[in-house]
Amino acid sequence: MNQTTSQKRYQRGNQAKRRQSRRKRVFLLAAVLVALLLLWLDPLSLRPHKIRPQLPDSARPEMAVELLTVNPNSRPGKKLGKVKGIVVHYTANPGSSAMDNRNYFEGLKDSHVTQASAHFIVGLKGEIVQCIPTSEIAYASNQRNGDTIAIEVCHPDASGKFNRKTYDSLVRLTAYLMARFDLDTDQVIRHYDVTGKLCPKYFVEHPDAWKQFKTDLNTYIKENAIKEKSDD
Ligand SMILES: [Zn+2]
Repeated sequence: MNQTTSQKRYQRGNQAKRRQSRRKRVFLLAAVLVALLLLWLDPLSLRPHKIRPQLPDSARPEMAVELLTVNPNSRPGKKLGKVKGIVVHYTANPGSSAMDNRNYFEGLKDSHVTQASAHFIVGLKGEIVQCIPTSEIAYASNQRNGDTIAIEVCHPDASGKFNRKTYDSLVRLTAYLMARFDLDTDQVIRHYDVTGKLCPKYFVEHPDAWKQFKTDLNTYIKENAIKEKSDD
């Protein structure tokens, strides 16, 4: 059957439309690829949810610096490279103080019973003891020892829940470290997130409390952040 001129014209029109929509698809695909490439090249500045903490020097919480002796069981003296995270732990030793735990780590150099330590310990009265310089690794977080800072947290009882003073100090210390090492809340993790270990117990058993901790970090950072300087 012969096609009429109008039918032919109709078909040509359809072909042109198809070509046009194909061109649109190619353009969209190219745009998506460029966007992905940009995200890959510069993930930090394009992640809108990231809060870049900027805290004043005065935000450094008070702490006792009681460094461990360099020894193979608790302070190996190995350099910690770029800090990519902060790992929160609980002591699993109800009622013990920050210094008790620091002294336990120090004692490992003689008892050799295990390898363990942390950079910081937050105590029941909110006190903070630093055991290891942040330029060195601690033995706390297994395969993440090489690129994270470890915080051990004391707790009054077997539930592993932190009391108010301890919790508030933990928020201050973690926020301060986030600012110092340019980390966001996604980079604050539990020991559980590294190995699946039940640590810190309360934050593993209560994911809502862990989520609240992240919210409290962001709130603290927002409230204490250095304000943008105006031009005048
Ligand atoms: Zn742990």
